[in-house]
Amino acid sequence: MAGIHPRLSVIRTGVEHDPDGLAASFEAAHPRVLALDAGGQILDWISWQDATCLYVRDAVIWTLGDPCLRIHGGTSRLTGEQSVIDLHPIVAARGHARHRHRSPTPPLTNTALFSRDAMLCMYCGNQFTRNHLTRDHVLPTSKGGRDIWENVVSACIACNSRKGNRNPQQARMPLLAIPYRPAGSST
Ligand SMILES: [Zn+2]
Repeated sequence: MAGIHPRLSVIRTGVEHDPDGLAASFEAAHPRVLALDAGGQILDWISWQDATCLYVRDAVIWTLGDPCLRIHGGTSRLTGEQSVIDLHPIVAARGHARHRHRSPTPPLTNTALFSRDAMLCMYCGNQFTRNHLTRDHVLPTSKGGRDIWENVVSACIACNSRKGNRNPQQARMPLLAIPYRPAGSST
């Protein structure tokens, strides 16, 4: 993505020019986008350039709000058309937005998993002590599911055995929350 920024230009900010509001026009010319991770957790404010990178990398999963900025990219040699990206004020990104203050993801241990899910079973919603919680693979490992944060939830023993070797749809046991990769803690 390194070479793309110089070719980008802002043509519309969605904010009317206000000769008296220098701060406002600065904000309009340098808008920032709030980046969330796939689980809806706030990552950070990012620049419109970094936000554009997420769109270009096809890393935007969903957006909130009306487009606030239109970015014109390069012109295709094949079609002669200029690429256009409409930025939204809030974007949820696959993986992590680059952010130097971010700690690495904590290791996937049962203790960290149960703590992420607040000691709740993600199927029945009841709270348990850690002795009664298990690590459930949303897509079972026997079906190709991976042992990663995005594919594991806390489940009570009863729900885990009831779900068995099936995914939530097959078991008709909808997840109460979408598993996500938690931010690292400083401890
Ligand atoms: Zn349960």
